[in-house]
Amino acid sequence: MADLYRLLPEEMEQLVIDMGYPRYRADQILLPLYYKFPKDINDIPQLPKKLREELTEAGYTIGSAKEVHRVVSNNGDVTKLLLDLTDENSVETVLMQYAPSKIGGHPRSTICVSTQIGCAMGCVFCATGQMGFETNLKAEHIVSQVIHFADILQQQGEHVTNLVFMGMGEPMANYDEMIRAVRILTHDRGFGLGQRHITISTIGITSGIDKLAEENLQVGLAISLHSPNNELRKKLVPTATPNSVEEIIEAGRRYYKKTGRRVTFEYALMAGINDSSEIAEELSILLKGNGSHVNLIPINPTAGDFKSPTQDNVDEFERILSDAGVNCTVRVEKGTEISAACGQLRTDIVG
Ligand code: SF4
Repeated sequence: MADLYRLLPEEMEQLVIDMGYPRYRADQILLPLYYKFPKDINDIPQLPKKLREELTEAGYTIGSAKEVHRVVSNNGDVTKLLLDLTDENSVETVLMQYAPSKIGGHPRSTICVSTQIGCAMGCVFCATGQMGFETNLKAEHIVSQVIHFADILQQQGEHVTNLVFMGMGEPMANYDEMIRAVRILTHDRGFGLGQRHITISTIGITSGIDKLAEENLQVGLAISLHSPNNELRKKLVPTATPNSVEEIIEAGRRYYKKTGRRVTFEYALMAGINDSSEIAEELSILLKGNGSHVNLIPINPTAGDFKSPTQDNVDEFERILSDAGVNCTVRVEKGTEISAACGQLRTDIVG
């Protein structure tokens, strides 16, 4: 079975030409795929019946995701879905909706997509990491997660404004499929999302960061650091990367130099583990003057035994970084009560 959501617009064009049809037939498939979200090839009435039949006979499908379960946060701004993407595999995808700020702007609808089912990196504070690795998702499965929410948003008169690759899995460990999905989602004849509205998050796989820098894309990069020293990082992120903290920060610098996009270092704050003022000092020395941004994330209750830091410790940690001139924010978590926040995704919500 071949999924039409796997094809780049150029490939769609080649497909219809190879089937003996004029080039413009490709746009008659692409436009509805990315603006009307059909569930079946026969839901594209502008295509000649013969072409629809031939595509079906050739094994093409529209692999839309099937919603297995939906949970919405108390105030309605976070929606977590369990989506059935293939016959055997389900994955969690989250939508976060933000109202315009008081000074104006537009409402934002950010989708957090998964790139793998489970994750091999085994971060001790992460529910997905505790599941172990199950499988890599194909590009069409990543695209389908976005399309599913785009359809829901369209019915509310909204649209997808941002995309973060921060769901289940390590995007760099499924690099080729992740990049194919990014190219389809940002192609002006595909989903058409601005490259700058996408952030790829990694646990610090430097080979992937360097490769991404060469893609000629303007996507943002977030690196999950969680510790300023290798000894502690090894305990928190045991199998994630053979790269040292210094090498990871250096790869972030190279990314910034090559793309001009500021790198965000994600730092999950865990009480009594990595939230002391000494560690904040150590982190500030490491990141001082390199123009990056630190996003502090007070940890959520997950599968592990980790506790959220006190507000005083969060404030002090932030103050130390800011005083050292390191740009820093504290992430306001959304969706904690429905286990949709950072590090809480796993596929056992049903049953
Ligand atoms: S934090 Fe990210 S890299 Fe680590 S186990 Fe969880 S999903 Fe994998």
